[in-house]
Amino acid sequence: MPELIIRPRTLKELWKILPTISAKRKYLAGGTDLVTAANAGFDACDAWVDISGLKELQSVKETKTSVLIGAGVRIAGLEAWGAVRRWLPVLTAAIPHFASPSLRNMATVGGNAANASPCADAVCALCAERAEVILELKGKKRRLPLSALFKGPKQTGIKKDELITAFEVPKWPHTGAYLKLGPRAYFGISKAAVALAIELDGDKIKSASVALASVAPVPLMAVKTAGCITGRILSPETARAAAALVKTEVSPITDARSDADYRREMCGVLLERALLGCEERLKAEG
Ligand SMILES: Cc1cc2nc3c(=O)[nH]c(=O)nc-3n(C[C@H](O)[C@H](O)[C@H](O)COP(=O)(O)OP(=O)(O)OC[C@H]3O[C@@H](n4cnc5c(N)ncnc54)[C@H](O)[C@@H]3O)c2cc1C
Repeated sequence: MPELIIRPRTLKELWKILPTISAKRKYLAGGTDLVTAANAGFDACDAWVDISGLKELQSVKETKTSVLIGAGVRIAGLEAWGAVRRWLPVLTAAIPHFASPSLRNMATVGGNAANASPCADAVCALCAERAEVILELKGKKRRLPLSALFKGPKQTGIKKDELITAFEVPKWPHTGAYLKLGPRAYFGISKAAVALAIELDGDKIKSASVALASVAPVPLMAVKTAGCITGRILSPETARAAAALVKTEVSPITDARSDADYRREMCGVLLERALLGCEERLKAEG
């Protein structure tokens, strides 16, 4: 653990404090990754800047065209916001799959992105929702598609001291699913996960996004698969075609959690199930 932990109350105070402390510093949000790493001896910081007191990061706001999720919103807190439940079905579906209730009460959406694990569930769902990430450094803001933030496992394009402040997700009329395969039904990091978002015109897929976790060095957008199902009828044939194609887009590895071939196969199975689930819902709605 570092010797110093400071807790600014506002963003303005944060930018004022930073130059006064050691350059070997990191932001601390929920601490579920950072404290775990420190306990294992993998964090050599002199100071942690505790951002959990920054009110500016802790709410969800709705504009006419988008939903803005503050980076400090906890995973368990997402569902409390009507805008999330109404506009972000894939993110909402991902919440129960995220770790355990106690972890969800601590972990933040911003920490999930900054930690840059290929397994990150909230990130994978937000990529399918077509989120942009908003970053700030000393008052200067920039934004980019969330999927473009990741450079490799635990590697991002975040600059020194740059803070993720929010995620902006467009409002678009879609349905979707988040399916995760782990060692257990819940409480586990995934072997593979699929986030599917589709906009329907009757039974035709007007637009689609497919994101995957744990099957590439970064959370992956399956662009070819999304393109292949766009314009097609939502049917078992389309689901089968998508399942075959998505297996060619992923690049899983074999590690302690799973085997590369199994992961690749499961990407197809999960995506097919996700599409068939949407088809069933469509039929049930008549
Ligand atoms: C037992 C266990 C189970 C887990 N299961 C899952 C799971 O099922 N799914 C899943 O996705 N994750 C899982 N995780 C990982 C973890 O809970 C998430 O990645 C979590 O979202 C991290 O958020 P945090 O607020 O705790 O981040 P912290 O631990 O506080 O920070 C993580 C990193 O992000 C940086 N950071 C945090 N916030 C910001 C910000 N706003 N701007 C810039 N940098 C920032 C920190 O400096 C640090 O480097 C699990 C972790 C544990 C320990």
